[in-house]
Amino acid sequence: MGLLSAGEPMSWEEMKPWQLHVRKYGVKQFIKLYNRLKDEKGRALKWGDEVEYIIVKLDHESRKARVSLKAEELLAKLTVKEELMKEEVEKTGSSQIELLSLWRPEYASYMVEGTPGVPYEGSMSFFNTVEHNMRVRRNELEALLEKDEICVSLSTYPRLGCPDFTFPPTHPDPQNPDNFTKSLFWPSKATFLGHPRFSRLSANIRERRGEKVAINVPIFKDVNTPDPFIEDFSGLGDDGSSANAAKPDHVYMDAMGFGMGLCCLQLTFQADNICEARSLYDQLAPLCPIMLALTAASPCHRGYLVDTDCRWDIIAASVDDRTREERGLDPLVHNKFVIPKSRYDSIDSYLSGCCKNWNGYNDKELIYDEEIFKELCDGGVDVLMAQHVAHLFIRDSVSMFQNKIKSDGSYDEDDLDHFENIQSTNWQTMRFKPPPPGQGIGWRVEFRPCELQISDFENAAVVCFVVLLTRAILSYKWNLLMPISLMDENMKRAQKRDAVLNQKFYWRKDIFTVSEDSDPQIEELSVDEILNGIPGSDYQGLLALVREYMRGLDDVEADTSCTLSNYWQLLSQRASGKLKTNARWIRDYISKHPSYRGDSMVPENTLYDLMVDIDKIQKGELKDAALFVRAERKSKTKDIKS
Ligand code: GLU
Ligand code: MG
Repeated sequence: MGLLSAGEPMSWEEMKPWQLHVRKYGVKQFIKLYNRLKDEKGRALKWGDEVEYIIVKLDHESRKARVSLKAEELLAKLTVKEELMKEEVEKTGSSQIELLSLWRPEYASYMVEGTPGVPYEGSMSFFNTVEHNMRVRRNELEALLEKDEICVSLSTYPRLGCPDFTFPPTHPDPQNPDNFTKSLFWPSKATFLGHPRFSRLSANIRERRGEKVAINVPIFKDVNTPDPFIEDFSGLGDDGSSANAAKPDHVYMDAMGFGMGLCCLQLTFQADNICEARSLYDQLAPLCPIMLALTAASPCHRGYLVDTDCRWDIIAASVDDRTREERGLDPLVHNKFVIPKSRYDSIDSYLSGCCKNWNGYNDKELIYDEEIFKELCDGGVDVLMAQHVAHLFIRDSVSMFQNKIKSDGSYDEDDLDHFENIQSTNWQTMRFKPPPPGQGIGWRVEFRPCELQISDFENAAVVCFVVLLTRAILSYKWNLLMPISLMDENMKRAQKRDAVLNQKFYWRKDIFTVSEDSDPQIEELSVDEILNGIPGSDYQGLLALVREYMRGLDDVEADTSCTLSNYWQLLSQRASGKLKTNARWIRDYISKHPSYRGDSMVPENTLYDLMVDIDKIQKGELKDAALFVRAERKSKTKDIKS
C-alpha cells in the first residue's frame, strides 16, 4: 500500500514544519525526472498483478474462525529467497536465483501481499501462466501455515473488529494514550507492527483530521434487524465521540484497519513511453467502476451484513485525513482548500491528449495548488500533467521518515522520494507512476479498483481480461472516455448491493471514435450490456471486442485460447447475472446458514463454515455452480519462463 522507507517515522507534530519542504522539493524532483525521461521510448510492455491474502486460524472444536496475526513471522520466511538473491547481486552483480513470487507486508498483521517474481511480458502465452503463478504463490504461503490455518483471497473478512476476532486474542484499548487508533473495536496488534509506517500513518491521519476516522456503512435491514438500528458503545470505552459519529441504521467503524485491512486485486502496466502511459491511465479509468461492480465481494463489515457490496468507500473513509474545514463543515480558516474527496478515491482528471479533443471530459473543477501548478508549468510540464501533480499535492504528507529529511534543509534532486511521499498516499482508482530513478523501469500505471475473488481461477480471469483490454485499446486506439463527473456517479452505483443486476452505468458506445470534437455518445447501460453487448445494436460489448482482438493475433496457442475462453465465459455469466458475484454468493451463504437469525449479524459458526467452504472452493474440492463453473482442462498450464 505504499513505500516502506527504512528509518524512524515522524509524528504529525514533528512533520508539520517539514510539510512545505516535502512539497516544494517533491515537485522539483518530479520536474527534473519528467524532463529527463519524458521523451524516452521503447520500453517493453510488462505487467503484473498483486494479490492480498488473509491468514485465518480455524478452531475446529469450537467452530470459530479468527484472523491469524502472523504476517511478520510469515514474511520473514517468504522473503528469504529474495534476500539471498539481493545479496548475490550485491556481491557478484548477478544471481542464478529464480523468483516465482515476491512478498510484502500490508496494513494488517493478518495480511500479506504477493506478486509474481518477475513481471509478465508481451507474449500471449503469458496469459496461460497467470493463474498458475497465483496458485504457486498461494502454495508457497500455505506451505508455511499450521494445520489449522488457511489463507483466503477475500476482500473483506466478515467479522473484523468483533470480540475475539484475532488469534492470538487481542483487545482494543481506546483509552490508552499511546493507542494510535483510539478505536473501540480495532486492537493495535491487528495492524502490522513489523514496520512502524502503518501505526504512524494511522495516528497521523487521525491527528491531522482532528478526530477519529468515522466509517458509516448502511446496514442490510433483514426481517429481525432492529429498526432503527442504533448501537450502544458506552460499555466499550467511548468518550462520546463514537456515539456522535455513528449514524443510525449504519454499521459504524472507527479505525484505518477497517479500510486498509481490506484486500484487493491490483494490476500494474509498464508502457512503451509516457504518452502511452497517459493514455492507458485515461482509458482504464472509466472501466474502474464497471470492474468494481463485477468483482464486488464485500457484503459484511464488523460482523454485520451491509447494504453495499464493495470496499471502496469504506477504505476512502478509513484514511480520510481531511479536517472539518477541508470537508466543508467549518469555514476555511486554517486550511487552504475545501476538498471534495478523501485521499483514497476515484481520479479527478484525465491526463492524455485524447481528453483534449472534447472539452467536456475534464468537467469537474480540479482543486490544485496554483503555485505548484505554475512551478510545474515553468519547469516545462504540460498543463494536464501539471494539474494532475498539483492536485495530488493539495494533500499533506502523512508519513515522513527522519532519515529522509536532511536537517540542513537540502534535498536530493535526483531522487524521487519527496514526490513519492505524497504520491504513494494518494490512493486513487488509477495511479500514474513515474519511473523510479536508477531502476531501469519505464512509465507505469496501476489499475486499483478490483475486489478479490475467492479462487485463483476468478482472479486470473479478471487480470487477463483487463490486460487484454489494454492491448486492444492501445492497438485499435479505442476511446472509452466520458466526463469525470459521470465516472464519479458510476463509482457510487457500482458499490450498491447487486449493482451488476440492478444498476445502469454511464457508458460510451462509440468507442471506436479515434479523435472527435463532438459530444461522445454516452448512454446508461447495465454491466451485462457493457460486457456482453446489446443484441440488435452495433455495440458488441467488451468481451466480443477482446475476442476479436485475439483473432487478429498470430501467437495465440490453442491451450491459451482455451484458458481464456473459460475466463470470458465466467465474466460473461457474472455480468449477465447467470452466476453470482462473490458478494452475492457470500451474502446468500450467510443468510441461508442455519445459525443466521435474520438480524443482519454474522454468527461465529457461520463464519467458520464459510471459511472452510471458501478454502475448499479455492482448492477445487467443493464446487458451487452458482459461483463458477469451470470446464475441465485437457492440458496443464505451463510454468512461467521469462
Ligand atoms: N488494500 C487496499 C485496497 O483494497 C490497497 C492497498 C494497496 O494500495 O496496496 O484497495
Ligand atoms: Mg497492497
